[in-house]
Amino acid sequence: MPIHIDPNRRFATYVPIVIVGAGACGAVAALAARERGIDVLILERDAAPAGSTALSSGFVPAGGTAQQRARGIDDSPERFAADIQAKARGRADMTLVKAYTEAIPQALDWLAQAHGIPFELVEGFLYPGHAVERLHCVPERTGAALLARLHRAVAASGADLLCSARATDLFVDDARRVLGLRFVRPDGSADEVGCDALVLACNGFGGDRELVARYIPEMADAEYFGHRGNDGDALRWAIALGALTADLSGYQGHGSVATPHGVLITWALMMQGAIQVNARGERFANEHEGYSEAAVQVLRQPGHVAFDVYDERLHEIGLQFPDYAQAVAAGAIKRGATLAELAAALGIDAAGLERTVMEVNALAHDDATDEFDRTFRAEEMLLPPYYGVKVAGALFHTQGGAVVDAHCRVLVARNTPLPNLYAAGGAARGVSGDAVWGYLSGNGLLSAVAGGFIAGRAASAR
Ligand SMILES: Cc1cc2nc3c(=O)[nH]c(=O)nc-3n(C[C@H](O)[C@H](O)[C@H](O)COP(=O)(O)OP(=O)(O)OC[C@H]3O[C@@H](n4cnc5c(N)ncnc54)[C@H](O)[C@@H]3O)c2cc1C
Repeated sequence: MPIHIDPNRRFATYVPIVIVGAGACGAVAALAARERGIDVLILERDAAPAGSTALSSGFVPAGGTAQQRARGIDDSPERFAADIQAKARGRADMTLVKAYTEAIPQALDWLAQAHGIPFELVEGFLYPGHAVERLHCVPERTGAALLARLHRAVAASGADLLCSARATDLFVDDARRVLGLRFVRPDGSADEVGCDALVLACNGFGGDRELVARYIPEMADAEYFGHRGNDGDALRWAIALGALTADLSGYQGHGSVATPHGVLITWALMMQGAIQVNARGERFANEHEGYSEAAVQVLRQPGHVAFDVYDERLHEIGLQFPDYAQAVAAGAIKRGATLAELAAALGIDAAGLERTVMEVNALAHDDATDEFDRTFRAEEMLLPPYYGVKVAGALFHTQGGAVVDAHCRVLVARNTPLPNLYAAGGAARGVSGDAVWGYLSGNGLLSAVAGGFIAGRAASAR
């Protein structure tokens, strides 16, 4: 990802704000910039933009929204920020946590009012680490639908989206002001465009095995479940420009991807009573700690796999999620009238599974806490018929990147931003600190939507 210092570079085409990447972050940044009537060009490497956003569940966390107030839920940016820092054990960047948690309720409200993108509250269960219900989604409950709605709004706003256009080179002056960039087409032809401000919204480096091995060695051999085109361009540019980087060892993992089907099995099942066991039928962790760190735990089990085990009540809850319904259709979900039958279908030790479920039900009967510090409730007792699915641990997306300030300006030193370079979403450092356990559910789309909102506004205010 070359950087060229070329102060005299001239460009045949010029657009005030160029955005690299058309995921949630790039789309929201474009809408925010268009609000001020400024011309915007989004460059997207894929022919059909999808990014990790379209792979995601599309759940966006926000504290202090109208949807929460309507349900009588007492929440605020401060309360949300406290939950983020509690999960990250205080290691998330406080400037960004504050900026994002304050911006996100405004951003969701604005997307609804100005762009007709309705958000509703995901109700019925709490994701690990959230004190109250605060995940919001579009009615279709998928990231693909969220992105489709954002792209319709982008088209209506008059922003230009150029697909099959991979940004490759940046041209800067001696002060590291971005003057323009080069992008290449699939046939190898190249074009250049000049700009006043550049917003990097091209996510992290999960798609680059070499960078993952360097910064996140524990995930070097894990499956990457995010968008393959997110292969570290923003990080390489940031490093080449001398920008600060942080949290490069931080990432969102997931310990529940149906294998070999490659379908996400919602962690809502764990939060409502499901358990994870290994091939010996033994539990190995507190499932309520979070799905991100579960990735590492699952990879440590025999065969690098685990098994989600639950019952019909939880199966019905799962069916509310499109991904889970897809897993059922793919034949990933097994059913057994007895635990022995389920164990045979999953290929795990029957006696071990029966022992584990008996222990878990005894804990639930007493509302008791186990050796991993998970408390079981009476209503969570596992009853026949039983269901289960074989799962693997995966890398979803990286959480490290360029250090940015509260306006998403890329910093070269504390309080010293580059003149006109912005980064947000997965392209910047996140709010999860530097370890897998720091990821609070929703931190990804929080960074993308709030960061895009802030970066688009800041770039257009220049
Ligand atoms: C399976 C899965 C489920 C998830 N579920 C959730 C969830 O429910 N809630 C949540 O908060 N987070 C979730 N996440 C994380 C979330 O999807 C991401 O954090 C978020 O989508 C990042 O948005 P983004 O716009 O920064 O990146 P993306 O959506 O990945 O968009 C980046 C875009 O940049 C393009 N690009 C890359 N390099 C270039 C280049 N050089 N030139 C041009 N274009 C380029 C890519 O093609 C891509 O379209 C999930 C992730 C996965 C993988």
